[in-house]
Amino acid sequence: MLTANHILIKVAAALLYWGLAHVGMSIFALQPDNITLLWLPSGVALVMCLQWGYRAVPWIVLASFIANFPGMASDSMTRQLLHTAVNALADGLAGIIAMLLFRRLLPEGLATARDLLPFAVGVCLVTTLISSTIITLNLAFPQYIAWEQVGSYIRMLTLGDSLGILLVYPIYQGWQEFRRLSLLNLQWLMTAALLCSAIMLLAFTWMPGAIFFILPLLLVFSFRLSLLGVALLSAFAMVGTVVGTARELGPFVAADQLDSQFRVLAFVFSGAFTILGLAVQYRQSSPDQQSNASPKEAADLDPLTGLLNRRAFMPLLQHEHQRALRRGANYTFAMLDLDHFKDINDRYGHEAGDEMLRLFADIMQANCRRVEYSARMGGEEFGILFPDCTGAQARLPLDRIRSTLEKTPLPFRNQSIAMTVSIGLTSFTAEDSKLLDVLARADKAMYAAKEAGRNCIVQL
Ligand code: GH3
Ligand code: MG
Ligand code: MG
Repeated sequence: MLTANHILIKVAAALLYWGLAHVGMSIFALQPDNITLLWLPSGVALVMCLQWGYRAVPWIVLASFIANFPGMASDSMTRQLLHTAVNALADGLAGIIAMLLFRRLLPEGLATARDLLPFAVGVCLVTTLISSTIITLNLAFPQYIAWEQVGSYIRMLTLGDSLGILLVYPIYQGWQEFRRLSLLNLQWLMTAALLCSAIMLLAFTWMPGAIFFILPLLLVFSFRLSLLGVALLSAFAMVGTVVGTARELGPFVAADQLDSQFRVLAFVFSGAFTILGLAVQYRQSSPDQQSNASPKEAADLDPLTGLLNRRAFMPLLQHEHQRALRRGANYTFAMLDLDHFKDINDRYGHEAGDEMLRLFADIMQANCRRVEYSARMGGEEFGILFPDCTGAQARLPLDRIRSTLEKTPLPFRNQSIAMTVSIGLTSFTAEDSKLLDVLARADKAMYAAKEAGRNCIVQL
């Protein structure tokens, strides 16, 4: 079951790699036409390697091989096979080098603005310079390209492949943060995407220079969006700009094709890099919920479930409580405690208990949205903070969590283990001068749910 899933997700990643390669080749190709300046797969390869280590390499090589093979057409099949294979191996190697450099230079991911330099130079440029050199020589020796072109090919491919990492990796980091904190700000993202499209439309129809307004637009929205939103928006704007230029529209079109390609790549790379830097810097320095809501350090997360731990969760609660006291906002807090959890450990072992905790954390996260924070308070006790939310509103997701758990037995060694949860919730009132008042009432509600026969919700 587990291994089938593991293989399936790798196949999906390889398909994504192949699909993005294909898109890049159809949009902006050089000669031979599998060589493209929009190589988002370089970012996918880094993410695959970060996720699965060396085990990702065969999948990358396979996907790259299949994507590159048609473009490497030649009189001799052996030659076509050989040189496609060299390309594919170079792509696999690039993934691994990027991963090794990433782990060494950025053990905590893109956490602060200082991480930008090692990210851009170490992870993006160095890695892609190596693979681009191999790929270019692999084109020059069998005369797919002329030797005079080697310099410009290495320059272009390095820039294009770096752009892939620069655009794709932040989506991955943003996605992980999103899974943990459910922050996206969808309305802002849609608004920004619409405005971006309008600017591109303008630039590609009758005011080429308008494209430069994309930068202030992205900048302003980067302060409103989660990292995932910024990364998606930036990728959308930058890929759109490249597509327009490939259709010979916009301000980057020059008489010489290589020149226009370099112009657009330079613009897009600088733009994406600057926006990413500002987004990271803002999140690092902002005193309000942006940075509070992004506890990124491993010390803030419970290693078993990936949820926030108690230590990181309490300041968020405290922050919300103060906000409620100051501005009369409302918030709701829920305590969730698994029923007869000790029996699972006793009957099936600790490992089954741990699996159950992970399953429950996944169910919690799947049912919490946007700015709701879920945490493991300790043992088999969990907490959820619903900012700006009444008890009645919070009951909906809480009841989904309760009933999903009831209907989702844990598969464990050919058996299936059923589990239920008791939930107590309470909302802030003006009399709650201390956070402790709210916590104690939520606890009491949870025990009342146990008394009432478990697998139910009690609100106090
Ligand atoms: P109730 O319905 O009254 O909540 O009963 P319960 O058995 O869930 O409650 P109790 O608090 O007695 O038991 C909680 C158990 O959770 C005890 C402890 O062994 C187990 N536990 C705590 N942390 C972990 C963990 O990280 N992994 C596993 N497998 N078990 C844990
Ligand atoms: Mg308990
Ligand atoms: Mg319990």
